[in-house]
Amino acid sequence: MDSANTLYPDGAIALRGGEILAVGPSGSLRGQVRAKRELPLPDRVVLPGLVNAHTHAAMTLFRGLADDVALEPWLARVWKIEPVFATPENVALGTRLAFAEMISGGTTAAADMYFHPDAAAETAREVGFRLAAGVGAIDVLEIPSDKPREVRTQQFLETYRGDRLVHPCVQVHATYSATRATLENARELVEKYHAPFITHAAESRQEIAQVGQATGMTPIEYLDSLGLLTPMSALAHCIWLRDDEIELIARRGASISHCPESNLKIGAGIARIPDLLKAGVNLGLGTDGAASNNDLDMWGEMHTAALIHKGAALDPTAVPALQVLQMATIGGARALHMDHLIGSLEPGKRADLCILSLDGLNLTPVYDLISHLVYAAHASDVESVFIDGQMVMQDRRLLTIDREEVRQKALRVAEQVKAAL
Ligand SMILES: [Zn+2]
Repeated sequence: MDSANTLYPDGAIALRGGEILAVGPSGSLRGQVRAKRELPLPDRVVLPGLVNAHTHAAMTLFRGLADDVALEPWLARVWKIEPVFATPENVALGTRLAFAEMISGGTTAAADMYFHPDAAAETAREVGFRLAAGVGAIDVLEIPSDKPREVRTQQFLETYRGDRLVHPCVQVHATYSATRATLENARELVEKYHAPFITHAAESRQEIAQVGQATGMTPIEYLDSLGLLTPMSALAHCIWLRDDEIELIARRGASISHCPESNLKIGAGIARIPDLLKAGVNLGLGTDGAASNNDLDMWGEMHTAALIHKGAALDPTAVPALQVLQMATIGGARALHMDHLIGSLEPGKRADLCILSLDGLNLTPVYDLISHLVYAAHASDVESVFIDGQMVMQDRRLLTIDREEVRQKALRVAEQVKAAL
């Protein structure tokens, strides 16, 4: 996933510490590098770890809680449960479950927006997962906390600045759920900390109407008027865009995190991805939270992203496989301002690797590897995973998470949620 989309049929990759030292044909790498330890990977694909550009990790605990309803009743149901159950302990647990699921599918980094991000960040450090996170500002919901939000936001940005795995962001839930003062404060923080800005935008028609009534603008115009439509911005969804808004987003250099399965499931619509690609907008791919997807499977997401736009546009050339794989790797990395670190396998970048086996019946035979990855591969074909040079899954065994423990604990919390509904 480098700028030339280089593919080495008989390739090798050399790691030193957490860094990629060299990538290339195995013959020439043997001449350059003497390895202390070698990992032979016959009939395997080594690709950049997938980047889940938009999720709410701890919502794995609420997987399947509000199915087959529209966004607004969905939010009403989730927002009833969260003030009680979104405790730091549960956030740590749900996030751990999310990391287990994501690592099992070759996802090595995610942009997370949820309550108690410190609990998620500490879990990321413990597990060895790369996480973009921040205090998500929302003004329509009160979650009990020990300190005021401004203090927690500053502290988070300070604590994780320059961290190896946790990448602090400025986050606002959405323009319809935050006050103008909150959004203005976010812009100040983005400038002060040079941190990425993450928000939901233009997800539902009701949102367009609501923001229009309150501001006389669309969510995109409103963000732009506040100085929040910049190359630092990663906007989740962006389904309901006019032509001039697509041009504006492209001109401002903002990124969009495309979440096709969540959008389909909530019946929110289909984002104008072919038009956004044509306009040159950088796109990441995200699963959104497990309560609206209902999994964190980036392979399923790639599959959906590659199919729906062809069907919707009656055009089989729309959104080709390579562009989908770019969204799931380098595009997401760019959206989160991590493309100097991850998103492609290039010397000097961090060693976040997804190793996929081609042994599966679903992957036999192979004509075109890239389209195979997007159209035929499953998360279960991922065999081993490295994050920042650390092996976190080997031969499908998670090395930094006790799979059964996290499962049993999540089942116990779900019993309490059921009782509270
Ligand atoms: Zn979301």
